[in-house]
Amino acid sequence: MTDAGRLAMFGGDRVVGRQDATRELVGWPVVTDREHEALRGVLDGGLFTSNDAGRGEVSALQRDWARYVGTAHCAAVANGTAALELSLAALDIEPGAEVLVPALTFIGSAVPVLQRGLVPVFVDIDPVTYTIDPVAAEKAVTGRTRAVIAVHLHGLPCDMVALRALAERHGLHLVEDAAQAQGATYHGRRTGSLGDINAVSLNVVKNLPTCGEGGLVTTDDETLHERVVLHRQFGEDLRAGRERDYLSRVPAGNEKMSAVQAAFTRCQLERLDDDSAARDQVVRRFLARLDRLPGVTVPTCPDDRTHAWHILRLRFDPVAAGRPGLPAGAFRATVQRALRAEGVPVQPYQVVPLPGQPAFRGLDVPIDAYEVSLAVIDDSVTLQRWHLNPRCAPVLDLVALAFEKVWDRLDDLAPVAAAMDHRPPWHRVTSGAAR
Ligand SMILES: *Cc1c(COP(=O)(O)O)cnc(C)c1O
Repeated sequence: MTDAGRLAMFGGDRVVGRQDATRELVGWPVVTDREHEALRGVLDGGLFTSNDAGRGEVSALQRDWARYVGTAHCAAVANGTAALELSLAALDIEPGAEVLVPALTFIGSAVPVLQRGLVPVFVDIDPVTYTIDPVAAEKAVTGRTRAVIAVHLHGLPCDMVALRALAERHGLHLVEDAAQAQGATYHGRRTGSLGDINAVSLNVVKNLPTCGEGGLVTTDDETLHERVVLHRQFGEDLRAGRERDYLSRVPAGNEKMSAVQAAFTRCQLERLDDDSAARDQVVRRFLARLDRLPGVTVPTCPDDRTHAWHILRLRFDPVAAGRPGLPAGAFRATVQRALRAEGVPVQPYQVVPLPGQPAFRGLDVPIDAYEVSLAVIDDSVTLQRWHLNPRCAPVLDLVALAFEKVWDRLDDLAPVAAAMDHRPPWHRVTSGAAR
């Protein structure tokens, strides 16, 4: 066999070289002359903060996003975690009440629950959509449950019909965490408009980014919106036209957005639909190619919604791949090593289900019950960031080629996986090693 045919892990040539993954093809966010102009406009205009009397970039972004998603109100805030925290603050839930949160999500979905003095109750995910399992959510409802956080993990809107029905049956608030799903739709409506109150993140890695940190809260409910604005700045009543009275009506911090952030995101928002459509084409073609490899499970999207493809999660099944003797975790870990050696930056994402995070240890929830989350974490890898750039197609072609190369040579990998002393990714917390 030639060197080019041998796996890079065993000294062969890698498929994806550093020179292939250029900033032009896979850099994110894409920065154009529009962003440069807009930021110069902020510097020259002198309106730097969100208190811009409706004339600055922050107010403009609030109007743009509310119009885009179709809600009556929007408040721009410091980041996505603050957006969720302010959403919960606006709902004015009594301390100690319970909030349902998926067990597999970004930590930022659940920390705001603790910050508000509420108790997160974790719910396992659906093995196909990777979003909160509505049946498991129903079972987790108690007399103290007041809200459910609907996280559109990886960019796929969750089953909002089932969650809305659940919320109505039990009198719960429905809070949307659309941090990973900007531009996606569900039954024709945009994410960020599907809950009673909705949060998105504009972090630089998200599908609708800013050049740093930002977040947005939307709602149709004027009272909820006013409470978000109240909590966004020291509990002060800053409704347009009023003079600042320096009275803090509720205990609250400072979670405002700056004009530079808003100006950058407004440029990105102009391109969001075109970028999303281009990405949808490129990603679907890429996934169709990987789907032909036995034992690779690619993400899918039900017909009643669109996928923002924020993160691509790929599961590996040794049985379907013709390696029935190998444990799923060891098989995944070996494939991951081989792919990384080929130059494909596959990586784990959220390696510990949230109930197992040291930050939530006080809740004392054993993680064994979250069977789907654990299986998914152990047998899958994710691709992040590269595929967000709408010009990434040539690089994704190479990534697919690397997968095909690895799959052609599973015989070379099997002994490595068989000899591996595999510990699942959450091993450090269950063994007590994480302090
Ligand atoms: C990024 C993210 C957040 C938090 O947003 P930040 O802007 O980083 O604070 C919350 N939830 C999910 C699902 C996220 O991906």
